[in-house]
Amino acid sequence: MRDTFLVFASPQIAQDEIDEVVASMEVGWLGTGPKVRQFENDFAAYKQSPYAAALNSCTAGLHLCCAALDLQPGDEVITTAMTFCATVNAIIHSGATPVIVDIDPYTFNISPEAIARKITPKTRAIIPVHFAGRPCQMEEIMAIAENNNLKVIEDCAHAIETEYKGKKAGTFGHFGVFSFYVTKNIITGEGGMVISEDEERINRIKVLGLHGMTRHAWQRFSDAGYKHYFVEECGFKYNMMDLQAAIGIHQLRRVEKNWLRRQAIWQQYNEAFANLPLQLPSPIQAHTRHGYHLYTILIDPEKTGIGRDRFLDEMTARKIGIGVHYLSIAEHPYYQRTFAWQPEDYPQAMKVGRETVSLPISPKLSDQDVADVIEAVYDLLKR
Ligand SMILES: *Cc1c(COP(=O)(O)O)cnc(C)c1O
Repeated sequence: MRDTFLVFASPQIAQDEIDEVVASMEVGWLGTGPKVRQFENDFAAYKQSPYAAALNSCTAGLHLCCAALDLQPGDEVITTAMTFCATVNAIIHSGATPVIVDIDPYTFNISPEAIARKITPKTRAIIPVHFAGRPCQMEEIMAIAENNNLKVIEDCAHAIETEYKGKKAGTFGHFGVFSFYVTKNIITGEGGMVISEDEERINRIKVLGLHGMTRHAWQRFSDAGYKHYFVEECGFKYNMMDLQAAIGIHQLRRVEKNWLRRQAIWQQYNEAFANLPLQLPSPIQAHTRHGYHLYTILIDPEKTGIGRDRFLDEMTARKIGIGVHYLSIAEHPYYQRTFAWQPEDYPQAMKVGRETVSLPISPKLSDQDVADVIEAVYDLLKR
């Protein structure tokens, strides 16, 4: 067994970003400034999207996109039962009512047929989540949206590198929203980004993200002279700092290299576990590019003789950090109390949520780390 605990999704931080953060501190520009602007431009170029707004989290981005749709009480927004709570909470905070639908058991992504069944006269928007980095069926989803006059906000927290039929995730919907939280494929500590092909939409996100003020601070205090700002609407305080962008700029430069490393680990796991009684991630569909954000296995207690939660404990005892993405949304008491959701009403998401385990797939893993993960899984299931 290993000597040290292998932390799940430990971020890879290189000297370049350390130097860039120090340079920001030496210059004294910590808040939103030129490095945020550069990170927005670099990220937009990578995503082949004309406009981007950097924020302090993906949650903030999802909230602002919902706010920018000017939803009214009673309006409904459809999302998946297999996501992080932030996706659902953003809908609630914007004043609308979330409606969750079940997943496709092959992709673990929101099922377009299930979306179509949940549309009512009050439906205003859909938030698909590209789960684990696998793209949703965006053609079908955009067709449903167009036929029903709905907006689409893509939750791309797992999907920086993801593509569907040659087009990048986040460029199908009206908005694409990304996360740079410490466990994600690009990290800034905390951080997020909204992209859109519409300049007005991104300007609205920027205004809403900084108190509803018309002018950003770094424009106000520049040597061009003091400019009054005007509050145009009641906004939020969601801007990214230069200190965060300093990290992101260099992380972004390694995004493809890290993707290749995670792809190699993914293939190693696939080969190593092929003969174990596990459900591995489904093969990658033709004409798609997976982001390889999460490598998830399903632990069926009947086939493996061990429950999922015991598997988690046994892996931890073997000094391997693991994750669970996610218990289905309907498992959480708040949503049960508020919306009377029950896990059984979303059976595919419930099953995945109760059986899933995420294994480490960070580019920071050494070959020995990967071998240790494989050995721990074997040790547990081959006894
Ligand atoms: C991480 C995550 C978020 C929230 O991202 P933050 O940047 O931490 O706010 C939202 N949706 C999904 C699917 C996530 O995995």
